[in-house]
Amino acid sequence: MVDESNSVNNESDNSNISKGKYRSLRDIVEHVSGKSQSSSALQQDSGLAEVLPFPFLAIVGQLEMKYALLLALINPAIGGVLLIGPRGTGKTTAIRGLVDLLPEIPRSLCYYGCLPEDIEAGGIDAVCPNCARKFALGEPLAAMDKIRLVELPLNARIEDVVGAADENIEGIEKYRLHRGILAQADRNLLLVDEVNLLNDDVVDAILDAAAYGSYVVKRGSVSATFRARFVLIGSMNPEEGRLRPQIMDRFGLRVVVEGLSDSSQRFEAYTRVHEFQKNPHKLVHEFSEDTKIAQADIQTARDILPEVIVPEKISTIGMGLIRDLAIDSLRAEITLFESSRAYAALDGRLEVNEDDLRATAPMALRMRRSTYIEKFLSEQSAEDEEIKKVVGDTLKLSGE
Ligand SMILES: [Zn+2]
Repeated sequence: MVDESNSVNNESDNSNISKGKYRSLRDIVEHVSGKSQSSSALQQDSGLAEVLPFPFLAIVGQLEMKYALLLALINPAIGGVLLIGPRGTGKTTAIRGLVDLLPEIPRSLCYYGCLPEDIEAGGIDAVCPNCARKFALGEPLAAMDKIRLVELPLNARIEDVVGAADENIEGIEKYRLHRGILAQADRNLLLVDEVNLLNDDVVDAILDAAAYGSYVVKRGSVSATFRARFVLIGSMNPEEGRLRPQIMDRFGLRVVVEGLSDSSQRFEAYTRVHEFQKNPHKLVHEFSEDTKIAQADIQTARDILPEVIVPEKISTIGMGLIRDLAIDSLRAEITLFESSRAYAALDGRLEVNEDDLRATAPMALRMRRSTYIEKFLSEQSAEDEEIKKVVGDTLKLSGE
């Protein structure tokens, strides 16, 4: 058994990678994943991950899961990721491991999340009066800051999620509403473990905020609008219940995460988890150089993303896929093309090609077809035919 955790800094086993230097983040992900072997997972949803996260790049196999999460970091327009699979397949570990790869964004210095880009898009009225004043004085409205991982706990109450007035506060402050988790998630990643087990009111609040990028809280005479432009990262175990179709449709990419089938990969995963449990700092250190390179590559990919185009030939192929698979949801093409653009950006290209479509189509298009809707539509058209026939026959009779 080769100890791959030690071979990370030793490229001799991978002829694709020039000595001492990876060409791209894709090389790193594929290299440390042992793509040459196949696909995998196994890291337990470890309690240790909360203290010091298991390095994302140390996760063995599970290429599709890793790409989906990285693409969501690069392009928020993809609409987030849903990881579907049984417990103990590394879903939570992977999500929490993103913490060291997060890029920087301009972060609002204002309670309401106002940004200079709001003024560019909608004029001075698009920001709060305080920010309008600051803008006029030439003061900054934002500062560069790392994207954060904001977790929505399973037991969160709706007041925690959307925010509420604090009734214990006197005076003017009592009219101030607390920001909820959704507002804290503005321009961040919103993590929802076991999304299928959330209460309906919480799910509805997430869906509304995700659809409009903001939400309004009203409590008595007080109301406030909060920005909530987050990337939704969810996980679910299908054994524990289904997910309502509305929320399923909201996730851009869907990844089915299975346990590793390859025995040597499983053993490799076991070895790394064991090593991490014994000495988490050592494993984190072993991957720290690769993690730094990966983070820089993600930042670069985000920077070039606005310039990445989908050529007509590729958009025709993509639309053909959606037509041939008979997918109704318009979110299919948004997710397919946006994730392909992110994939191209990750590879340092400004034009989407067929390989990008090939890599992203399964995650973007799976579980988009509704067998219920298909059955409904076909029954409906059969009924319509029947109605037409009866109407035609009857009117013909009455016309005779
Ligand atoms: Zn403001």
